[in-house]
Amino acid sequence: MYDINKIREDFPILSRTVYGKPLIYLDNGATTQKPRCVVEAITDEYYSVNANVHRGVHFLSQQATNLHEASRETVRQFINARSTAEIVFTRGTTESINLVASTFADSQMKAGDEVIVSAMEHHSNIVSWQLQAARKGIVLRVIPINDRGELLLDEYEKLFSERTKLVSVTHVSNVLGTVNPVKDIIATAHAHGVPVLIDGAQSIPHIKVDVQDLDADFYVFSGHKIYGPTGVGVLYGKEEWLDRLPPYQGGGEMIKNVSFEKTTFNELPFKFEAGTPDYIGTTALAKALDYVSALGIDAIARHEHELTTYALARLKAIPGMRIFGEAAERGAVISFLVGNIHPFDMGTLLDRLGIAVRTGHHCAEPLMHRMGIEGTVRASFGLYNTKEEVDALAAGIERVSRMFA
Ligand code: PMP
Repeated sequence: MYDINKIREDFPILSRTVYGKPLIYLDNGATTQKPRCVVEAITDEYYSVNANVHRGVHFLSQQATNLHEASRETVRQFINARSTAEIVFTRGTTESINLVASTFADSQMKAGDEVIVSAMEHHSNIVSWQLQAARKGIVLRVIPINDRGELLLDEYEKLFSERTKLVSVTHVSNVLGTVNPVKDIIATAHAHGVPVLIDGAQSIPHIKVDVQDLDADFYVFSGHKIYGPTGVGVLYGKEEWLDRLPPYQGGGEMIKNVSFEKTTFNELPFKFEAGTPDYIGTTALAKALDYVSALGIDAIARHEHELTTYALARLKAIPGMRIFGEAAERGAVISFLVGNIHPFDMGTLLDRLGIAVRTGHHCAEPLMHRMGIEGTVRASFGLYNTKEEVDALAAGIERVSRMFA
């Protein structure tokens, strides 16, 4: 039984007010709020276990190492990876993509080789590749979308050539909410002998992800978008691929032996984890994943689907409403504009009513160009949002609309 009131009690911030109004937090696509158990995992570890990991013989260091490595196992189970060697801790989605872009381009690509991305990518999955394009002369090819915000899979097929070395696409759009058919996208790429990176930033908090079932070569996500702490994220990579890629950064932890003549590198996943990891953050991330697992990702998905369906119906009834993203399969994100009201004005006035939404281009400027707009207002739901909050959003939008009428 999905007891929303009980769930909300786990998130202290949800009972605060802003401008004297109850907070209605609908910016979960940007970051999620944290349950008490996640925050307590951070303070508990600082208060009672804090010590650097992997290199201490002393009790605390071993205890901290055990927590850190147990967290890796929690992540492994959460996404059903084969082995913890395939779970690299990073600072987040952005760093995970940059790690792959840099090391993959260096070791697997030559000038003129191509990476396929899509028209709905977040800047982190565009600019990371553009940096490599500038450095190595690699080329970006782009899967187009239709007006409903769905990838054109026939066009995708046509983009493959013998120069295609990687496909890198998002699982769920942070603007349109589109859930891309990544299993099919991966199968198509594999039929051409090409590996695939999936940006899971917007999928991991909302839908069951099984990297083996998807057959993803790389899958990346951020802890802070799944009720975990900021500053910690995950790069999943198939062992065979991670083995082939060179280290990303140099430093402690990632080496086996160092001399001025020759340095040998550590085994996976440590080869990619230079320096002291955020071992407190990883423990807290594991707590967040445990929290999500206890509620059940399928129960969360059902709740959010109901909420989104309800919200879409409510918002569509508002005169002048334009919703961007009408894919057959969509997640808990609604981007919209009303009449000629600038998204910034809408967002600012909603904020005065206690409603937190995102406005602007959502780090997806090429997608904005494709849709012929500068930005949208975006409401994105999490596991703790309610129908009453959707009602308040709809009433808020109507109120702002009347002000501009
Ligand atoms: N990809 C997508 C689809 C996103 O929504 C985001 C965050 N808005 C990112 C990548 C980047 O995530 P982070 O800033 O946590 O690295």
